[in-house]
Amino acid sequence: MKPNILVIAGHDPSGGAGIHADIEAIQALGGFASTLITGLTVQNSQNVRGFQLTDVALLEQQADALLDDFQYQAVKIGMTGSVAIIEFIARLLDRLPGVPVVLDPVLAAEAGGSLTSESLADVMLNQLAPRCEVMTPNLPEAEKLSGRHGVQACGEALVKASGQGVLITGTHDNTDLVANHLFTASGEQQWQWERLPHSYHGSGCTLASSIACLRGHGESLGNAVADGQAHVDRFLRKAFRPGAGQYVPDRR
Ligand code: PLP
Repeated sequence: MKPNILVIAGHDPSGGAGIHADIEAIQALGGFASTLITGLTVQNSQNVRGFQLTDVALLEQQADALLDDFQYQAVKIGMTGSVAIIEFIARLLDRLPGVPVVLDPVLAAEAGGSLTSESLADVMLNQLAPRCEVMTPNLPEAEKLSGRHGVQACGEALVKASGQGVLITGTHDNTDLVANHLFTASGEQQWQWERLPHSYHGSGCTLASSIACLRGHGESLGNAVADGQAHVDRFLRKAFRPGAGQYVPDRR
């Protein structure tokens, strides 16, 4: 069966990140994405220049239409943009009990540029993270969310605060290998990947959507996290450069 994955994320007109990345990754892994678009950004493959968020009343109507029609096997959350949208998503998740949710806590774009004008860390941690099976921050995001420093302290603090799993990615380090750490209530697991040569647009979106799709197929959380990373490594090795800025993973 093709799993239905509900994607709640922003639009990146350059096609590298956001909704484009989510749909492509989910399609590549055999799922079907339906989408609630939290906002439109103004950006290219080099930087973010601005964004405009979607009216919550419109998102509510879209969510009602989808939930009247679809059964979901997993949810992926990316750019949220505001406290009001986070509160809308929390209400929506309460209507989807038992459905695994993957949260990519997008606070800024990889290439630089903010995707929110409000302080979202606390509300994301308190209202969204407890409703999500796993979140996938990079280390700077994990530090912002937890107020701690270093992978171990952040991982432990975020599991304690959310009661859920945390995959902290090491893409922002300068090490030869990228180390990703999964912390859950039952322990810790680590993976290491070759650091590939370029800077990539949409790799975080691609990872979170891949994990959500694999959970939608019924893989365990541990397997979905492991296999999701392997798919992203495969997509990144084929990455291409559509403009003059970052490379884009070839999600096929
Ligand atoms: N979501 C949207 C809408 C974005 O525009 C971006 C970055 O530009 C992201 C998420 C995060 O992208 P990345 O996967 O490169 O961290």
